[in-house]
Amino acid sequence: MIKQELKEVIKKELVGVSYVCDNCKKEEESKKIPEGWVSFMSGHDEWGNDSCDSVEYLDLCSAECYIEKLNELYNDNKDYKTFEIKGDLTILFIKKLLTLIKEL
Ligand SMILES: [Zn+2]
Repeated sequence: MIKQELKEVIKKELVGVSYVCDNCKKEEESKKIPEGWVSFMSGHDEWGNDSCDSVEYLDLCSAECYIEKLNELYNDNKDYKTFEIKGDLTILFIKKLLTLIKEL
């Protein structure tokens, strides 16, 4: 049996204070994903340990950074048939993305 006493304990834990863009490294103070940013997970599901290592959780600050990261992810993973990107895009983000694509 453990004998217990009520004691005051000072506990430290990691708390999110800002978001950093995984492409351009722009930082914005916020505890939740800033407006206009996008979050997603990428990775492949093929045989071997590298499928676990391939999983990345990314936060990007803009449609420009999204396109740049897509290019990078495509070039790094184009040989994996199961490579996927999973995440939600807001309608406003999609509009910005389509505008940029039309300009290309
Ligand atoms: Zn960025």
